[in-house]
Amino acid sequence: MKFGTKAIHAGQEPDPTTGAIMTPIYQTSTYWQESPGKHKGYAYARGKNPTRTALEDCLAALENAKFGLAFSSGMGATDTVMKLLKPGDEVITGNDLYGGSYRMFTKVFEPYGIKFHFIDLEDAENIQNYINSNTKLIWIETPTNPTMRIVDIAAVSKIAKAKQLTLVVDNTFASPYLQNPIDLGADIVMHSATKYLGGHSDVIMGALLTNDKELYDRLAFIQNSCGAVPGPMDSFLVLRGLKTLHLRMKAHCENGRKVAKYLKAHPKVELVYWPGFTDHPNHEIAKKQMRDFGGMISFLTKGATLESTFKLASSFKVFSLAESLGGVESLINHPATMTHASIPKTEREKAGVTDNLLRLSVGVEDSEDLLADLEQALAKI
Ligand SMILES: *Cc1c(COP(=O)(O)O)cnc(C)c1O
Repeated sequence: MKFGTKAIHAGQEPDPTTGAIMTPIYQTSTYWQESPGKHKGYAYARGKNPTRTALEDCLAALENAKFGLAFSSGMGATDTVMKLLKPGDEVITGNDLYGGSYRMFTKVFEPYGIKFHFIDLEDAENIQNYINSNTKLIWIETPTNPTMRIVDIAAVSKIAKAKQLTLVVDNTFASPYLQNPIDLGADIVMHSATKYLGGHSDVIMGALLTNDKELYDRLAFIQNSCGAVPGPMDSFLVLRGLKTLHLRMKAHCENGRKVAKYLKAHPKVELVYWPGFTDHPNHEIAKKQMRDFGGMISFLTKGATLESTFKLASSFKVFSLAESLGGVESLINHPATMTHASIPKTEREKAGVTDNLLRLSVGVEDSEDLLADLEQALAKI
């Protein structure tokens, strides 16, 4: 099946008791057993819930994976992956990670004795310099947030396979519509389903997808033991969001392209980060591993101070100033004080997250209104 058909149908059958076309919200914590242990595959909803199962199967299909697990948040999914490790193990990851991942790695897992190397991944070969006998896992994010650098997933996977390391890709920014890391050799794909998958900024959720039965069993065991499970209502909302993922992503990409080009041509704009530009340093890799370039764009204005950047961020009428991304509505964000505030200033600035950087999540509104909004806001600084 093709992507759009899977987005609408995968994992979903008419309800066996009523024929309902839409997967019911199975709002139950427990299930009847005919005799102890004899049940229809569901015993207690921390382990499994049918609404969640439908969602997990749909997500797995979209990432060309055999197995899927849905979580109460993206961070809940990340936490579960990290619990595969034990004290003394080492992880190699990027130096411009999602702020919440950086915070979890340094503040939660380092004290448990896991070591993280935050390195430049633009050249995948750099990873070789950090591998030793304790290295267990490589965690990458691409495109990176917020400077839209691209990591070559196939190249990293080659190194991971040669050294028998588990490769995890946070595919939140691209979504499975633009990029399928498992096809490029990743072992686990992680998503914050809060973003493009849910698509309507009305739910917090995460997901892990894999082809490896043993990894899946270990992850499912940790999830059931530790409890980061999503509820049936939230599972239903993401399942509904997925039905238009392909339509929304197409519109995000079209609007993203228009906004990126508009900003690049604007006399007050200094720099635009968007992997679709031929002069983007990783454009060729983006073209190779992504189907299009998405609706995430960051930019700097000329001679900007923190004050003028705040003024610009507050001058929009269609774009809303808010954290998060990937919803149908356009958002603007000031990474240094919002999404990336938990990263120390020196670390942040090394990764290009300067005080004058703004990030856009371009929504699916009429592009003329988005460009007019940028025009009037930029006229105010
Ligand atoms: C939002 C986000 C997360 C965290 O997901 P939550 O659903 O907010 O817990 C992880 N990685 C990336 C790239 C994100 O954008």
